[in-house]
Amino acid sequence: MSWSLNIGKVAGTVVRIHLTFLLFLAWIFAASYAQAGAASAWYTLAYLLLLFLCVLLHEFGHIFTARAFGVTTPYVTLLPIGGVAQLERIPEEPWQEFLIAIAGPLVNVVIAALLLTVGGATLESAATGVDRMNVPLLDRLAVVNIFLVLFNLIPAFPMDGGRVLRALLASRFGYVRATEIAAAIGQFVAFVLGFFGLMYNPILIFIAIFVYLAASSESHMVALRSVSRGVPVSHAMMTRFATLTPEAHVDEAIQTLLATSQGEFPVVDGAGKPVGLLDRAGLVRALKTLGPDARVGQAMGEVVPTVSQRTTLEQAFKVLQDTRAPAVSVVDAGGKLIGLVTSETIAEMMMLQNAMPQGLSMGPWGRRPGA
Ligand SMILES: [Zn+2]
Repeated sequence: MSWSLNIGKVAGTVVRIHLTFLLFLAWIFAASYAQAGAASAWYTLAYLLLLFLCVLLHEFGHIFTARAFGVTTPYVTLLPIGGVAQLERIPEEPWQEFLIAIAGPLVNVVIAALLLTVGGATLESAATGVDRMNVPLLDRLAVVNIFLVLFNLIPAFPMDGGRVLRALLASRFGYVRATEIAAAIGQFVAFVLGFFGLMYNPILIFIAIFVYLAASSESHMVALRSVSRGVPVSHAMMTRFATLTPEAHVDEAIQTLLATSQGEFPVVDGAGKPVGLLDRAGLVRALKTLGPDARVGQAMGEVVPTVSQRTTLEQAFKVLQDTRAPAVSVVDAGGKLIGLVTSETIAEMMMLQNAMPQGLSMGPWGRRPGA
């Protein structure tokens, strides 16, 4: 689902704008045009774009702090309620998550402080009416940065306050339980917001729905990860799949591709040890550039991420994500290939979990809560 436009890349992170954010800008522009004319509309647009910049700087507060802990961020998306930095993973060390979460609001504290001291902004004029055009732009920005700090510290996902709350709870209750508690508090906050929205401001209802969904999905992701944590990889890996040998010709490999529904083929030597990996795209490319008589050994990728059969599914996922390989090979104690974990394994786990009756977790390897 792509409701976002890419607008550029900063320090390795793609900046995207969600369509609802653009609609939000357009709506505000149109509303102020209708109310007070063109000059007011342009003033408001300039203000919103500066606000957008403050939100972006806030997100880069998270992104650079995360990077200090070795976590990269492929995407940051701007939504009407703020930005969402999609960290490659969330560190489960509570203090690291705490620092990453708090770094965003701290950026806005710094911006507000700079505007008030160096920029000469004051809060008095803004306090009388933040919607007025006669309020200087810098004053409004100072006020809105203070608002951003307070808003982001609302203790609900996806706001930073939700993560701060989880980090504080996690040191006491553990990560999974802390997420459940934080998500429940977040959903309660969403109800309260929605209630106020009904009475005072329809925008609050949108925020409430958003917060509610985000809390559920955060809870779901963490649950999924925690289920994969205790699972031996040997219980969830693919065990029936075709393999190729380095000596095989590319056209034989194409035959295998057509005869199976597999997308990734491990290449094994005579002893059954994985020596390479070839996926559908690589195979088609080899057919085009090297021709059907070329050997699989010439076409395969030599990087073969491998895990032992005694490791956990969670560990295998981590290797899959870190190496960005199409599949992870599972080997026995002698180094022989016995299984395969691909991103489809993850999708299947999610499907299984959704198909399970409420209260039951994860199929054959699952345990009932409390059992
Ligand atoms: Zn934030």
